[in-house]
Amino acid sequence: MIYLDNNATTAVAPEVTEAMLPYFGDIFYNPSSMYECAKTAAAALKEARHVIASALGVRDDEITFNSCATESINTAIRGAAAANPKRKHIITSVVEHPAVLEVCREMARNGYEVDYIGVNEKGEIDMRQFVRALRAHETLMVTIMHANNETGVLFPIAKLATLTKQLDAQILFHTDATQSVTKMDIDLSADGYEHIDMLSFSGHKMHAPKGIGALFMRQKTPCRPFLLGGHQERGKRAGTENLPYIVGLAKAFEVAAADKAAEFRIERMRNRLERGLLDIPYIVVNGRGAERLPNTSNVSFHAIEGEGILYQLDLEGIAASSGSACTSGTLDPSHVLQAMHVPFTAVHGSIRFSLSRYTQPEDIEHVIKVMPGIVERLRKLSPFWDKDASEPLITDAEHLQAARIEAAKKAASVVGR
Ligand code: PLP
Repeated sequence: MIYLDNNATTAVAPEVTEAMLPYFGDIFYNPSSMYECAKTAAAALKEARHVIASALGVRDDEITFNSCATESINTAIRGAAAANPKRKHIITSVVEHPAVLEVCREMARNGYEVDYIGVNEKGEIDMRQFVRALRAHETLMVTIMHANNETGVLFPIAKLATLTKQLDAQILFHTDATQSVTKMDIDLSADGYEHIDMLSFSGHKMHAPKGIGALFMRQKTPCRPFLLGGHQERGKRAGTENLPYIVGLAKAFEVAAADKAAEFRIERMRNRLERGLLDIPYIVVNGRGAERLPNTSNVSFHAIEGEGILYQLDLEGIAASSGSACTSGTLDPSHVLQAMHVPFTAVHGSIRFSLSRYTQPEDIEHVIKVMPGIVERLRKLSPFWDKDASEPLITDAEHLQAARIEAAKKAASVVGR
């Protein structure tokens, strides 16, 4: 199996499994218990928190463990609202993960006003719209993702947080960094980043298990806890800590830090994949030209269905995805690609390839080898493909013209080789 769906979830690293095992066995104790042997558990919890806090450039007591990024995000938004009920305005973006969008919709049902900031064709945030949306003394919080899960496009969170605080230091800035943490360096003490109040992430995107996440919350951030009960996590998140998984999460940070070169290896493979695929006519790499995560490539194949491509890839032993894992259960086109104005006949034929440090160059070569045949077979069956002209039947003339120019350039470069 060639696994290129790492933005959906990742394989647990062997080092992570090994680090967790003792905590399923001999060291099973509740870290809050007072007796001597439970102190090993409490020490492991403390150490794990320290490893993660240091990696992010924050204080240990600013990290709260929980179950997943979705819980972190819910805590950040609902907790901020509960702590400051006078402010009723939230700013987010149109391309957020449903973990943010659904909470914002719920907030709107409860009387909040939500502004959704748009993106351009490369998936970059509209800075002017963002600045215009900020309201001194009214905006409760900004919640804007760091890296988009579908395209890998990065938003300039330090800049956005700085602009926010320049207008009104009381507006909270939260970022969903589920896709970027450990895939790239994030130092929350660095210039601009010190304005970020809250940051959410999840273990299963970074080779730790599913079911563990964390919320960074800067000291004194006004935010009510989401789960009430025991006094774990300094009262910020009740419930006995999932110690094995917390140890695993910390190990995942350590493993990532020990192999910094992985980022460049992965980016080289991703770029090679895109260069190889771009030899196929009428395809678009969504988000190309924008700053992106090194591991993500979102490619639209004009005139064919993503689901068909996925099925054919599966037959070849390749796992990828046609949108975010949570929304790919429906045939609706991706809200992210629609926001980027990807044309109609391309938006349905989008595939996300997401690599990891376990991806091998030969995996990429295999995809490049099989993809032209898959595309050709599916286009022959497609009602959106003009078989005589060998081009898509696009209604949007402008996009067709751009695609033709691109195809002509490619043909010229092949002749010139
Ligand atoms: N945010 C982003 C950007 C994601 O990609 C995901 C998962 O795909 C989530 C949030 C939700 O993560 P979890 O399933 O760990 O709650």
